[in-house]
Amino acid sequence: MKSCDVLIIGAGAAGMMCAIEAGKRKRKTILLDHSEKIGRKILISGGGRCNFTNINTNADSFVSQNPHFCKSALARYTPQDFIGLVKKHGIKFHEKKLGQLFCNNSAQEIVDLLTEECEKVGNRFQLGCKVNAIKNNDQFVVDTNKETYECESVVIATGGLSIPQIGATGFGYDIARQFGLSIVETAPALDGFNFKKEDLAHFAALTGVSIDTIVSCNGAAFRENILFTHTGLSGPASLQSSLYWKKPMPLQIDLLPNVNVVDFLNRMRKEKSKNLIKNVLAEVLPKRFAEEFCEYYKLAGNLSEISDKRLAELGATLKAWQIFPDGTVGYKKAEVTRGGVNTNELSSQSMEAKKVPGLYFIGEVVDVTGQLGGYNFQWAWASGFAAGQYA
Ligand SMILES: Cc1cc2nc3c(=O)[nH]c(=O)nc-3n(C[C@H](O)[C@H](O)[C@H](O)COP(=O)(O)OP(=O)(O)OC[C@H]3O[C@@H](n4cnc5c(N)ncnc54)[C@H](O)[C@@H]3O)c2cc1C
Repeated sequence: MKSCDVLIIGAGAAGMMCAIEAGKRKRKTILLDHSEKIGRKILISGGGRCNFTNINTNADSFVSQNPHFCKSALARYTPQDFIGLVKKHGIKFHEKKLGQLFCNNSAQEIVDLLTEECEKVGNRFQLGCKVNAIKNNDQFVVDTNKETYECESVVIATGGLSIPQIGATGFGYDIARQFGLSIVETAPALDGFNFKKEDLAHFAALTGVSIDTIVSCNGAAFRENILFTHTGLSGPASLQSSLYWKKPMPLQIDLLPNVNVVDFLNRMRKEKSKNLIKNVLAEVLPKRFAEEFCEYYKLAGNLSEISDKRLAELGATLKAWQIFPDGTVGYKKAEVTRGGVNTNELSSQSMEAKKVPGLYFIGEVVDVTGQLGGYNFQWAWASGFAAGQYA
């Protein structure tokens, strides 16, 4: 039996931040991971450059059954705090857009930063280690395929279900249930959409076409690109919307956010009445999309042949095109898992389970999910930092 003060299960973003803070408090801390490699999600994040925070972080960028829960942790560990750490390690970074900060070189630099900081405070890693059981007597006893650990605090930092190919598991949810904690229903998110069969027949041909739009869904709206894929819709506006979408909701897409469509169509009818409708639309939309869109809505012929009523309908559709997706793409592609350990079960100060002293949940396993753009790492850092002050 090995003993330590804090056993952290999951050597990802949140787990390592928690270990750094617990280590600073001289807590003997061990980080355990079933993978042989730490921080694998960090390595694949941001296209390999890790969008490690967003300078505009605030609670409105997160989805949770309790939208207030994340505020305390986010206020105590801010984007500026993590930027300070990044600068201290001499990592060069830049703002790509909308407050999103990326490494100039490689996500590996963030993993190295966390590893170094962990080692500096004396933390140990136990990799390739599978947990068989966690028992809670006076202390926690954690039985694994390598050792049995006895510890005062156990921190669950095993993340969500997205990208099982690199080791994501539902372990954190299982442990929460074992200790009687409720779970907010989980779903893949930030993954985009699959079309229904009938829509796919039209739009699969548009694979690769990208349009600047405003996508609205379930009260949220995003002004960014959509990208047609061979199964549905990707691109930042679609990924963001998938965080808010639930079947059978529609997506409402403004295909021409910069255009006063009524004026445009009326002007075109005066100036180019002999032009085919699809060619007129191709002046403001990608040609392939304009063609497919006209076929979908059976808009043949030229502008002079279309009735006033039909023209008004076309204008309305271009500003609020409704798509009813079949579903989101799923965990194999999702950047995050929405839902997770119910925040009502946790202290927002320490992330400790109210019913189980000494048991903590941090990072993506908790029902706090950020929008695309560095928010999920900021939550991982902030919740890890919070638990690290108490575990
Ligand atoms: C492709 C992709 C790109 C992304 N890009 C960004 C981005 O640029 N910016 C951003 O903010 N967010 C991004 N995210 C989301 C972000 O990576 C996660 O929200 C974040 O990593 C969550 O941190 P975590 O520590 O909670 O979990 P993770 O980082 O997933 O760490 C969990 C750890 O637990 C381990 N583990 C899992 N199950 C077990 C088990 N049963 N036993 C032992 N160990 C276990 C895993 O091996 C892993 O090391 C991206 C996600 C993906 C999939």
